[in-house]
Amino acid sequence: MNTAILEFLYLAAAAGFILALKWMSSPATARRGVFAGEIGMLLAVVGTLLRFEVVRYDWIFAAFLIGSAIGVPLAYLMPMTAVPQRTAVSHAFGALASALIGTAEFYRLTPDRFTAAALVLETLLGFLTFTASLMAFGKLQELLPTRPLVYKGQNIVNLGILGMAIVTGVALVISPEQLWLYPFFTLLALAFGILLIIPIGGADMPTVIALLNSYAGLSASAMGFALNNKLLIVAGALDGSSGLILAIIMCRAMNRSFTNVLFGAFGQLQTSASGPVVQKPYRSASPEEAAEILDGARSVIIVPGYGMAVAQAQHKVRELYDALTKRGVQVRFAIHPVAGRMPGHMNVLLAESNIPYDHLVEMDEINSEFLQSDVALIIGANDVVNPAARNDPSSPIAGMPILNADHSRTVMVIKRSMSPGFAGIDNELYYMNKTLMLFGDAKSFVAGIVKELGAVHA
Ligand code: NAP
Repeated sequence: MNTAILEFLYLAAAAGFILALKWMSSPATARRGVFAGEIGMLLAVVGTLLRFEVVRYDWIFAAFLIGSAIGVPLAYLMPMTAVPQRTAVSHAFGALASALIGTAEFYRLTPDRFTAAALVLETLLGFLTFTASLMAFGKLQELLPTRPLVYKGQNIVNLGILGMAIVTGVALVISPEQLWLYPFFTLLALAFGILLIIPIGGADMPTVIALLNSYAGLSASAMGFALNNKLLIVAGALDGSSGLILAIIMCRAMNRSFTNVLFGAFGQLQTSASGPVVQKPYRSASPEEAAEILDGARSVIIVPGYGMAVAQAQHKVRELYDALTKRGVQVRFAIHPVAGRMPGHMNVLLAESNIPYDHLVEMDEINSEFLQSDVALIIGANDVVNPAARNDPSSPIAGMPILNADHSRTVMVIKRSMSPGFAGIDNELYYMNKTLMLFGDAKSFVAGIVKELGAVHA
C-alpha cells in the first residue's frame, strides 16, 4: 500500500488513542472515548493488514477467529466485579504476543545492537508480564492461595533472578549471535514473573494489574522500536504511561507506596489480634424505618461501594434517587477513587442507571459536605468509610483517605452482615450511636425502601 496512506492511517489511529484517553477521563465523555479508541484500533489493524510485508492472510484469519472465539464470550460472560481478573488475562495474552514476536525477530535476524536492545527489553517485559498476569488472575479468581507467600531472603532471590535475566539480556545485546543464551533469558524472565507475584496478597492484585498493564505497554513500545513501527511506539507508550498513572492513583487512594504494594504483603489475615472476639452492640433498622428517616431528611449523601456492584443494585438506587428528589431531598453520591474493585467502578455503574453525572461528587469535594448532611446512606461500602484509616495508626488501612460518612447526622449502612470488607478489618462506624445497620442484599433492601417511600407518600 502507498506509504503515505499507511502513515495517515497510523496517525489517525494514534489520534484516536489519545482522544480515547482524554475523553475517558470524564463520565460525561467516556462513551465517546471508548468509541474513539475502537475506531483508532480498527484503523491500526486495517493499516497493518494492508502493509506490503503481509503476504498471506489465512493464518491471520485463523488467529482472528480463535481470538474472537475466546474474547467475545469473555467480554459477555465475565461480570463487572471480575474486571480486574479479566484485565489480567488480556495482559497475559497481549504480553505473550509481544514476547513471541520479539523472540521470532531475534531468531529471524541477527539484530544490530539497537534492535537487540529493544528486543531484549520487549521480551523481558513481555515474558515476565505473561506469567505475572496469569498468577494475578489465579489469585484474584481464587484458583491460587490469595494470601501473600513470604519467606526469608525472598527479595534477594527475586532480585537475583531479575539480575541474572538482565545480565543475560545484556550479553545478548553485546553478542546477539550467541543465541544459546536466549532460552535461559526467557526462562529467567518467566520465572521472575511468577516470583514477583507470590509475595503479593490478593488485596493488592488490582494495583499490581495496573502496573502489569504498564509493563505490557512498555513491551509493545519496545517492539515498535524493534520493528520500526511508529504506531506501536506511540500506542505502547500511551498504554505504559496510563497503566503507571492508574497504579499511582490507586496507591495514593489507598495511601500505599509501590514498594509497600510489591513487598509489603498486605491483605494477610489479621491473626495478631488474639483473644476472644468481643461482640459490640449495634442498632439495626427495617426498610420502613429507613424510609421514614430518609423522608424527613433535607440532604442525603449516598456512598456506593463494592456491595452495590455485587448486588447489581444501581437501578434500584436510581429509583431511590428519583423518589427522594421528587420529595425535594437533595441527593448526592460520594465517589471514593477505589470504591469497588477498580477505579471508576462506581461511576460506570451509576452512569449505567442514568444518574446525572453532576450528582456524582469526588471524595475531596464531598468530604466537607458530610457535616451538613442529614443522612449518609452507605450501600455496600465498607473500607472506604472506615474511620480506622484516620484514627488507628496500627490499622492496615491507616492513612488511606476515606469518605467522612461518620460526620453525617445519621449514618445508615446497607450490607448483609457484620462481616469485614476487602481489607478484612472491623469497622467502628457500625457501632456508633448515630449508625443504623440495614441488613440485607443491597438490591432488595433498596427496593424495600423505595416501596416504603411510596407508602409513606401515599
Ligand atoms: P469493601 O470494603 O470491599 O466492602 C464491601 C462490602 O459490601 C462488604 O463489607 C460486604 O458486606 C458488602 N456486600 C457484599 N455483597 C453485598 C450485597 N449483595 N449486598 C449488600 N452488601 C454487600 O468495599 P469498598 O468500601 O467499596 O472498598 C473497596 C476496597 O477494595 C478497598 O479496600 C480498596 O482499597 C480495595 N481496592 C479497590 C481497588 C479499586 O481500584 N477500586 C483496587 C484495589 C483494592 P457483607 O458481606 O456483610 O454484605
